[in-house]
Amino acid sequence: MSLKDMQKDVHQWISQFEEGYWHPLSMLARLTEEVGELAREVNHLYGQKPKKEGEPEGNLALELADILFIVGCFANSLNIDLDKAFQEMMEKYRQRDGNRWTRIQPEEK
Ligand SMILES: [Mg+2]
Repeated sequence: MSLKDMQKDVHQWISQFEEGYWHPLSMLARLTEEVGELAREVNHLYGQKPKKEGEPEGNLALELADILFIVGCFANSLNIDLDKAFQEMMEKYRQRDGNRWTRIQPEEK
């Protein structure tokens, strides 16, 4: 699924409801909530905060997907094309950080 398809899916979902997209500040708060939920799961799995007894297992993949959903909402509400933005961002990384990290060397034959 491309980011364009993801944004379409998000739009089909949201446009069923009269409330529609939230205002940017509400969306930012929602995104922050979801990042917090991801942080909670990461802390349970890899950090120092064990789950309480009987607390259900979380799902990191679904927490990341929750974040993607809100990012899709945010982008749609502001008419941002995430495919285009992602490509621009990757180009920035290639230009800026192309020599920053140690490249994996091809195996010698
Ligand atoms: Mg979540």
